[in-house]
Amino acid sequence: MAPVPSGRVHNLINIAAYSVLAAGALIATRQELVVLSPAQALQFTLAFAAGTFLLSPDLDLAEGRVDSKRHWGVLGVLWVPYGMLFSHRGWSHTWLVGPLTRLLYVALIAALVWGALLYLVPGMTLPQWPQTFTLQALWPPLLGYYLSQWLHLMADGVRPDHGARRARRR
Ligand SMILES: [Zn+2]
Repeated sequence: MAPVPSGRVHNLINIAAYSVLAAGALIATRQELVVLSPAQALQFTLAFAAGTFLLSPDLDLAEGRVDSKRHWGVLGVLWVPYGMLFSHRGWSHTWLVGPLTRLLYVALIAALVWGALLYLVPGMTLPQWPQTFTLQALWPPLLGYYLSQWLHLMADGVRPDHGARRARRR
C-alpha cells in the first residue's frame, strides 16, 4: 500500500485547495458569475476549517496520538471512544457515512453535555432555532465540511465506493 499522508500533509493539502477555491470564488463573485453572501462564505470557511483541523477522518486513531485529536487540547480525550469504535480507514474513511459519523458523534457529546447542564442548572432553556432557519441555509457549511473530508480521502487514495465495497465483502 502507498504511504498514508501525515496529519501535517493533509492540513497543507486542504489549505492549498482552500486558497485556490477562495481565489476562484472571489473572481467569480467579482465577475458576478455567482452570488455569494459574506455570511455564506464565512460559514463555508468555518466548516471547512473545522473539518480540516478538528473533525479529520484520522480521529479513528484517537485511541493513540493523532494530529486532529491534539487540536482539541484537553477535550481530545472525548475522541478516544470514537477511535476505539472505528477501525482505521474503515467506515470513518467512507465518503458519505464517514463524515456523518463524526457529526453525529459531536451531536451526541453536545446532547450529553446539555443534558448534564439541564440536570445541574434547573430552569435553563434550550437555545431556539433562528426564526428564519431554512434547510437551504445548511448548504454552505455542509459543503465546506464535506469538501474538507473528501480532500482528505482523495489524499489517502480512498475511492468514493469504499463503503459499498466494504459492505459487499461481508
Ligand atoms: Zn486518513
